[in-house]
Amino acid sequence: MSVPRNMFGAPAPAEWQQQMRLAIRNLDALLEALSLTPEDVRVCAQAARDFPVLVPPAMLARMRAGDARDPLLLQVLPRYEESLDVSGYVNDPLAESAAVLGDGMLQKYAGRLLLISTAACAVHCRYCFRRHFPYADHQAAGNEWRAVLAALRADPTLRELILSGGDPLMLADRRLASLFTQLRDVPGLRRVRLHTRMPVVLPQRVDDGLLATLALLPCPVVMVLHVNHARELDATTAAALARLSAAGVTLLNQAVLLRDINDDVASQTQLWTGLFDQGVLPYYLHLLDPVAGAAHFNVPEPDALALMAALRARLPGYLVPRLAREQPGHPAKTVLA
Ligand SMILES: *Cc1c(COP(=O)(O)O)cnc(C)c1O
Ligand code: SF4
Repeated sequence: MSVPRNMFGAPAPAEWQQQMRLAIRNLDALLEALSLTPEDVRVCAQAARDFPVLVPPAMLARMRAGDARDPLLLQVLPRYEESLDVSGYVNDPLAESAAVLGDGMLQKYAGRLLLISTAACAVHCRYCFRRHFPYADHQAAGNEWRAVLAALRADPTLRELILSGGDPLMLADRRLASLFTQLRDVPGLRRVRLHTRMPVVLPQRVDDGLLATLALLPCPVVMVLHVNHARELDATTAAALARLSAAGVTLLNQAVLLRDINDDVASQTQLWTGLFDQGVLPYYLHLLDPVAGAAHFNVPEPDALALMAALRARLPGYLVPRLAREQPGHPAKTVLA
C-alpha cells in the first residue's frame, strides 16, 4: 500500500480524516446548520458539554433543514430530557466493568473476544450505552496490540475477535494494518468482526486504503453496521457498501429501537428492505440499554413485541431482525422475538 506523504514526510490525511476535521462539534453549529432554534428542539446545554455533539458533514447532509423531528437529528441532538434522573437508568447498565479483562478487552461470551479498540467515534449517538464508559482506562491500540495478541494466543477457544469501540474504523489504516498483520500468527482465529457506523455516517471511510488494509486479514471479515433509519442510506452509502461486498465482507446490521425515530412498522420495513437493497442483512434490533440520560428513547417491551409481529407479517423471514436485549451475566444476548 503506498501512502501519500506531505512535504514533511508524514502521511497526508485521507479524505475521511479531512471530513472528520470539518465535523460539527457543538450544539449551536448543529442548530445553525439546520436552521433550527433552541426553542424548536428543547435542547440541554449541560448534556451537550458532558457528551459533546459530533456530526460529520456527510451525515449532516442527510438531515432535513428546519425539521426538528428529523430521525437522523434526533439520534444526535442533546435534548432537555437527558438531564432528567430516571430510576433504573444508570452509568454502566451492562455491568461491563465486571467483564473487563484489561487493555480494552471484554469477554462475556464463549469464543468471542471484544476489543475496545478506540474511544473515538465518527458520530455521537445520544442513546449510546458506552457514553459513560471510562475509555481512558481501557484502550487497546496504544501498545501495538500486544495484550490482545497475547490473549488470543493464550486461549485457543477464542475463534472470533470483535473490534468495537468507539468505532474501530476511526483508527488510521496503519494502526489497523499493524493488528491485522500480527493476527496472521494466531492460527486459531476464524473470524474478525468490526462493529462500525462509519461506512454509513462517513462513506468516504471506505477508500482504497481501507480495502487494502482489510485484505491483510487472514480470515473472513464480518462488518456489523449500525443503521437506525432508512434515511441514513443514499447513493453514497450504496457505493461504499458495494465496495465492501465486492471485497468479500459479510455485511450485517444492528439497529437500536428508538422512540419517535424508528418505532413504527413503516420505518422498520423501510430500514430492513433499504439495507437489503444495499447488500446488508438484518442482525439485531436492540431494546435500549437503560443508560443514564437516554430514558426518553425507550420503547416498552410489549410495544416492541407488537412491532415485531407486524414486521413478521410483512417481510420475508430473512429481512426480520432478532429483537434482543442484553442482560448482565447472561451467556448470550437474550432474543425476545
Ligand atoms: C454483544 C457482544 C458480543 C457479541 O455477541 P453476538 O451475539 O455474537 O453478536 C461479544 N462480546 C461482548 C462483550 C458483547 O457485548
Ligand atoms: S459507540 Fe456506536 S452507538 Fe456509541 S456513540 Fe459511538 S457510533 Fe454511536
